[in-house]
Amino acid sequence: MADIYTLGMDLGSTTSKGVVLKNGKKVIGSAIIEAGAGTTGPQRAFEACIAEAGIDRSQIANITATGYGRNSFDPADLVISELSAHALGVHTMYPEARTLLDIGGQDAKVMTIGKNGRLDNFLMNDKCAAGTGRFLEVMAKVLEVNVGELKDLDAKAEETVSISSTCTVFAESEVISQLAKGVNIPGLVRGICASVAAKAASLVKRLGVEEPLYMTGGVARNTGVVRALEKELGIKITVSEIQQLNGAFGAAVYGYGRVANGR
Ligand code: ADP
Repeated sequence: MADIYTLGMDLGSTTSKGVVLKNGKKVIGSAIIEAGAGTTGPQRAFEACIAEAGIDRSQIANITATGYGRNSFDPADLVISELSAHALGVHTMYPEARTLLDIGGQDAKVMTIGKNGRLDNFLMNDKCAAGTGRFLEVMAKVLEVNVGELKDLDAKAEETVSISSTCTVFAESEVISQLAKGVNIPGLVRGICASVAAKAASLVKRLGVEEPLYMTGGVARNTGVVRALEKELGIKITVSEIQQLNGAFGAAVYGYGRVANGR
C-alpha cells in the first residue's frame, strides 16, 4: 500500500509549528518558527517542515490546522481545536497519559484524557499572562537574556528569590527593583519559574490530577518551571518528547485518521 503523508500545523500566538507524518505515526519533518499567527511564521513553518520531510507538497494527503491562527491558514483542508489536537497528540505517543498540562505563549490548559484519546474535561487560563510563557518572555527581556536561557540560569540557583506580585506588570516592576538592588540572578530566575509554576499548579489542582501527568507546550522546555511544578504538586511530571510540537503532531494524526477512513 502507498505511504500516506499528512501535515499538521499549530499556529500559536508566539510560534508556528509544523509536523509531517508518514502513515500516521512517524515524524519525518518538523519546524518551529518563532513568529506566530498573523506573521510570515505560518508559511515559513509550513515550507520548512515539508522541506525537511523531503517530499513534494502534492504528496501530502491532508493538511490539518490547529492553534490560535487556525482559521486564517489557507492551505488547511481541516481545522481542529487546540484541546482536541493536544489530547490526540499526547494519547497517540503516550497512551497511558491521563492528565495533560500544556503551557504556551499566551495560555495554559489542563485536560483529562479518556482511554480512547478523547478529551474528558479541561480548564484553561487565557485571561491572565501570569502562569503562561508570556510572563517568562517579559522577565527574560528585563533580564536581557533569551527565554531559552532561563532554564540554564535556574539550574545554577542556590536559593529562591520569591516574587510576591501575581500580576505580570507588577511582577515586572518587582524584578526590575530586585535587579537594581543587585540580587542574585539565578535565584531570581528560580523565583520567576516558581511563580509560573504556582499559577499553573492551581489550575491543575482545580481540575484534579489523574496520574500520570504529562506536559507539553513551549514552557515544558523550561526545566525550571517543570521542576517547580513537580514540587508544588508533589508528583512526577513526564515531559513529552516532542514538547512544543505536540499540537501540530495531534493535528497530523487527526488528518491521517480522516484519510485512512476515506473521509
Ligand atoms: P504558542 O503555541 O502560544 O505560540 P508555544 O507552545 O510555542 O506557544 O510556547 C511558547 C513559549 O515557550 C514561550 O513563551 C517561551 O516561554 C517558551 N519557550 C520557547 N522556546 C523555549 C526554549 N528554547 N526553552 C524554554 N522555553 C522556551
